[in-house]
Amino acid sequence: MREKILIVEDEPDIVTMLEYNLKKEGFRVTSASDGQEALRRAEREHPDIIILDLMLPEIDGLEVCKTLKQSSNTANIPIIMLTAKAQEADKIVGLELGADDYITKPFSIRELNARVKAVLRRVREKEKLPEIFKIGNLTIDFSKIKVTIGNKPVELTAKEFELLSALIKAKGRVLSRDYLLDNIWGFDQAVEIQSRTVDVHIQTLRKKLKTEAKRVVTVKNYGYRFEQEEE
Ligand code: CA
Repeated sequence: MREKILIVEDEPDIVTMLEYNLKKEGFRVTSASDGQEALRRAEREHPDIIILDLMLPEIDGLEVCKTLKQSSNTANIPIIMLTAKAQEADKIVGLELGADDYITKPFSIRELNARVKAVLRRVREKEKLPEIFKIGNLTIDFSKIKVTIGNKPVELTAKEFELLSALIKAKGRVLSRDYLLDNIWGFDQAVEIQSRTVDVHIQTLRKKLKTEAKRVVTVKNYGYRFEQEEE
């Protein structure tokens, strides 16, 4: 699945320019024009990376950065800050708050692309899962796309396997229905009937997981998470 970038910037010209260029690079792009919207989108859509301008109306970029890094649901999303030359001090604060990198305006799109790719590469290395994942009676071999409970193979459909993998890769984090629809089914704008698709797949997945079904936890009105703590 193509990686998703959230652009947080209140200047429409910059957003348009970034959107155009990042899409051309093969990324999926979403944007927010103020801090509040940024926090909302980050929670719901869980982008792979956030490009965050520090000069924003209402809640400024540093505050957004701080809030994202304090919430267990969004703390692992890498952030590249956009700063102006005059904001040298903010850069340092931003990095201390957990931002991964910064880029100073004006910047070339080439430079930004390179930074985005470098940060994503670093994160991917860090988050790599072992090829074989085991918990309780459940074993998943990601390279062979094989799932077993005890020693019995479990027949999952492709979507069920993707769903289970996404939940496990989230390492206990809650994934919203919107996120799952977007990343597994490729539905950008979720409507009611599509949200139910996720629920139906979760139900069949639980049935097939038998003794481990309880690990797929419903978070009411929001989404699902996978319980990774051993009892
Ligand atoms: Ca701005």
